[in-house]
This record gives sequence, structure tokens and C-alpha cells, in this order.
Amino acid sequence: MRYRSTSRQAPLTSLRGAVLRGLAPDGGLYMPVEIARRSPEELEEFRRLPFTEVCFRTVRPFAGPEVPEEILWQVVSEAINFPVKLISLSPALHVLELFHGPTLAFKDFGARFMARLMGYFVRAETRGLTVLVATSGDTGSAVAHGFLGVPGIRVVILYPSKRISEAQEKQFTTLGENITALEVSGTFDDCQLLVKQAFSDVELNKRTFLTSANSINVGRLLPQMFYHVAAYRQLPVASVPLIVSVPSGNFGNLTAGIFAKRIGLPVTRFIASTNANDVVPEYLRTGEFCPRAAKPTLSNAMDVGSPNNFPRLLDLCRNRLEYVQREIWGHGATDEETLSAMKLVYERFGYIADPHTAVGVLGWEAYRREHPEPAQGLVLATAHPAKFGDVVARAIGVAPPLPERLAAYLQRSKLSQPISSKYEDFKQFLLAS
Ligand SMILES: *Cc1c(COP(=O)(O)O)cnc(C)c1O
Repeated sequence: MRYRSTSRQAPLTSLRGAVLRGLAPDGGLYMPVEIARRSPEELEEFRRLPFTEVCFRTVRPFAGPEVPEEILWQVVSEAINFPVKLISLSPALHVLELFHGPTLAFKDFGARFMARLMGYFVRAETRGLTVLVATSGDTGSAVAHGFLGVPGIRVVILYPSKRISEAQEKQFTTLGENITALEVSGTFDDCQLLVKQAFSDVELNKRTFLTSANSINVGRLLPQMFYHVAAYRQLPVASVPLIVSVPSGNFGNLTAGIFAKRIGLPVTRFIASTNANDVVPEYLRTGEFCPRAAKPTLSNAMDVGSPNNFPRLLDLCRNRLEYVQREIWGHGATDEETLSAMKLVYERFGYIADPHTAVGVLGWEAYRREHPEPAQGLVLATAHPAKFGDVVARAIGVAPPLPERLAAYLQRSKLSQPISSKYEDFKQFLLAS
């Protein structure tokens, strides 16, 4: 498969080129040049074959023939070594739990897959590769764990000081080895900007070999198709239209959902479920896209004021508002609504949703109010409730039990380095180390 830029001013490249570069040289985002629809027979097989096999078949056309099949098989089977669970709260409302990986959030899919793929792509390089990642919470831990101990790769994680939970912070600031965490005095958007500036700094890029692990990297998006496959395998045969509500921040997850739909998985419509950072729902309503500073909320992994996958959504919808609207419906929820949704879901179904998942439930409920025709909702549950134990306790009165994996990290001490949000400081750090 060849990859092209959403800005269409850069030459086509291989998967290796797209994954190692992250951002295209024209500033656009890499997209596969085609997304082939699978035959009904093949999709039928997707329901029957073992999950690893189906993930492998899903991603094969995007990686072949460049990545040999045995390598791709190894990448898929090592990366996706945890289950995806479908919980039906009612016949019309399902929750797809994507948080059974090592860091208890959906980002494990993308990060683990991409780390292994990059490890393969750089195995013959002499210069060490530095992976830069800005995180609003969960990306950092997923990426850090994905790359921990991968030879030839150093990971530098930037995160906004005091804006993420202790549990999130401890998961990626305590690892050491090839993982460095920078605690930035600023917002997530500041962190994201520093990473962008580093990539567009010609001098820096001559002296260091940089790449990104943010959701702009197509290597993270591809494996996010897998859970739509998992849903397809576990949902009752879809005679009722399926509406997928995606708790969204940078919109990588929703972009991958559209990839999955394009290969033929039955999704009638997606819901862009956001918190108060609702630039995409606003765009869907008004046609105006106005990125702005992120506002802090209880669902902080989605505190993104300038969603970096937006150009991909437009690209997939031929840059036409009416096509985007046909594919995606949007809803932004407040923190108060999020807390009451968590309480309601707990009281009605006995289910503990984390704040991000609750935002997804709210998106589905808002959609239902405007679209009374028969449909079933699938909410992507993006994080384990224990990762946001304090918010859960506020909403339902009890804190979810902390899984052992997480508890162990809380005991460890933080190794991060404080840094300002000035680009010069960041550049000095990169050149010095
Ligand atoms: C990253 C994240 C999101 C947002 O995903 P995007 O692909 O950036 O839209 C939602 N929920 C949780 C828990 C996350 O970590």
C-alpha cells in the first residue's frame, strides 16, 4: 500500500515512510491511497475465524507487500494479546470495552501495534530514533508501555503539568529505561505545539532522527479498526442499524472507525461525542471549524481544542460538509451531564462507566432524542473506570477497585523532568540528550 498526504503536495510514500515520518512534509496527514471494500464472503469469515487471524486480515492490505506476512503476523499477535469485551446494557445499548490492555485504555491497541512496527522498520538504522509524543493523559502511558525496551528507540513524552490524574501520570513517568517524561508548564495544546514545532525545525531534524507517536501517526490508526471488527463479531446480526458513539478528542478513533466502515463493516452512522471541547460538533452544526484553546474537563483525555485528525475526517468525506454530516453526528456534553450520566448508568444497569465512556453514552442519548427510528447504539468504552477513580467516586459514591497493575504503579516514584512551554527549551533538551 502507498500512502499520500491529506494536503496532496507531498510525494507518495511507503508504510515505513508514513510511520517513521508521522507528519507528511507538506504538513498533511498520511492516508492510504485506497481503502478496498471486502467481499461479503470475506466479511462473513471475519465473524468466524479467530480474532488474531481476523485482525491480521484486516490490516494486511494496508501493510503488504512491504511488511512480510510473518512479520505482520508477529506484530499483530504480540500487540493484540488482550480481549475486547462487548457488554449489552439493553437490547439497544451496547458498550465495547477497549480497556483490557496493559494500561487500561484503548490506546494500547494503537501504541503496541505501532511500537512493534517501528521496531521492525528501524532495525537496520544506525541513528537512534526518538519518538516524540504529546499526551493529555492516556497516550503517554500506552506509548511508553508499547515502546518500553524496544532497541534503537527512545521515547520522549510531553504532558501538561497538573492536568492529568496521578494514576495516569504514574504509569508513564516511573518507567525509566528508554522512556523520558517531560512535565510541561502549560496545556495539552502547548505540548502538541512543541511536538509540531520540533518536526518543522529543519536544523533539529538534520541533527536528530525524530518521529511522532501521536494519533497523527497512521501506524496507530490502522489497528484501531480491529475493535470495530470485534464489535461486528460479537453483536447480534445487524438487522437494526448500528450507531457507534465515539468519545473523541483528537478524533483518531473516529477516523479509524470510518476506515473500518469503508472496508465494509456495517455502521450506519458515527457520533462524535465530546466534552465541552466541542469544535467538531460545532462544525457539524454550523459548518464552521474554529479550533481554540482546550478547556479542562473531567474527561481530560479528550481535552483537545484543536483536534489533529480533523483533516483526515474531511478527506474521508471528500471535503464536503454534507458528506461529513451524513457520516457523523455530533454532541458535546458538560461535566455536570457527565457526572449524572455516570450515576444513571450505574443505577439503571449496575455498570460503572469512566467519564469518557459516559460522554459516549450522552452522545448516544442525544442522538436518540433527535432520531427516534429503530437503531442500536454502540458506545466505545475508552478507559477503565479505575483510571478515573476520583471522578467515579464523585458520581456514584464509590470508587471502583483499583486493578493490581495500576496499584503497583502508584507505589513507584515519578521520574519526570519539568520544562517550560517555550520551544527553545524543548529544542535544547532534544539536542543535549
Ligand atoms: C485518547 C482518548 C480519547 C480520545 O480519542 P481520540 O482518538 O483522540 O479521539 C477518549 N477517551 C480516552 C480514555 C482516551 O484516552
